[in-house]
Amino acid sequence: MYHQTLEEKVLRDPIHEYIHVDLQLIWDLINSREVQRLRRIHQLGVSMMVYHTAEHSRFSHSLGVYEITRRMIDEVSGLKDQLTDFEQVALLCAALLHDVGHGPFSHAFENVSHVHHELLSIQLITQPSHIHSILMEADPRLPEAIAKILSHRYEKPLLSQIISGPIDADRMDYLLRDAYFTGTSYGQFDIERILRTLRIEGERLVVKESGVHAIEDYIMARYHMYWQVYYHPVSRSTEVMISSLFQRMKDCIEQGIETFDSAPFIQAFLSTQKISNDTIMNLDEVSFLSLLMTLQTHHDKILSDLSSRVLHRRLFGYVDFKSNKQKEKLIDNIKKAGYDPHYYFDEDKATQAPYRPYKEDQQSQIWILTQQGLKELSTVSVIVAAIVKGKEKEDIKLYAPKECL
Ligand code: ZN
Repeated sequence: MYHQTLEEKVLRDPIHEYIHVDLQLIWDLINSREVQRLRRIHQLGVSMMVYHTAEHSRFSHSLGVYEITRRMIDEVSGLKDQLTDFEQVALLCAALLHDVGHGPFSHAFENVSHVHHELLSIQLITQPSHIHSILMEADPRLPEAIAKILSHRYEKPLLSQIISGPIDADRMDYLLRDAYFTGTSYGQFDIERILRTLRIEGERLVVKESGVHAIEDYIMARYHMYWQVYYHPVSRSTEVMISSLFQRMKDCIEQGIETFDSAPFIQAFLSTQKISNDTIMNLDEVSFLSLLMTLQTHHDKILSDLSSRVLHRRLFGYVDFKSNKQKEKLIDNIKKAGYDPHYYFDEDKATQAPYRPYKEDQQSQIWILTQQGLKELSTVSVIVAAIVKGKEKEDIKLYAPKECL
């Protein structure tokens, strides 16, 4: 009942070789304005300041998540039987659209605006937009079902788990893709083995015991990618600076110094206005970076200095946090150098545990199908048991202009 494309479409991809599309609805969504916008947003935001080839977009990641989900439906034994035709289509759409509300440099943006991209994704899907009309035309039940899958409210939790769970299509794609495009090997793991050993048990996605080694690798890949790529101190420095810049923009609007009339998307994000779907469509890295170009000559010294620093990669330096005394001294140096610490200092804490099988959070547990029944991963894997017992790694850094450190 859902139209097929005349012939199967394939898109070349360095991670999955090909992305296969045979549903007209998916093809139309790929060609929608909202999904095409993701070509103009880098998947890793500021990581390209460290890994110069990390230029891949959220568009290619979205296609990758769709492809892994498509393969899971086809290849994971027992999964297709659990899903109606409608649910299979809704799941594929959810995979393709899961990041559709992402803006440029999302994390820095969200720190200041407190508007989260997940909510914007759901807004684009459920309220008038190009993708909304494509979905409504194919099946009016789709927007609501996709929103429920993405927000973990769908009646069968299995569908949400496939997109966002302890072993999910989202993470499997971004780890492999980010490793490939940063040129690091940390994120590699055997996705073929994982897909082959996934099973459905009750309403849950589980792994056969023979897949445990592939899962251990996947968990280590996460751990290394976090510390080597996602939390790289130079990326964090760039993020800290973009947050400061957003904060200054927000303060300028509040103090009447600047209204940003030429960049209405900033006004909407940094004030209490409701963010419309049109505003989201106007927000991408192109529009944001072009705003920074013009701000370089702004009469407000903080706006012009921070924009110029970000554009020309004159980033803040950093030191490990040791004591409050050290921190106070640094803030003092920043003031003496004529900078306002509100915008030229930040204390940034990063923590990450590769796997947290805590009892209160069933969502984060990986279950292994053994001959004695289902067992939680850390009770089966010696490596994972050791990681779980260890202390969570934490890293606190202080960021400031290099001459103040
Ligand atoms: Zn994603």
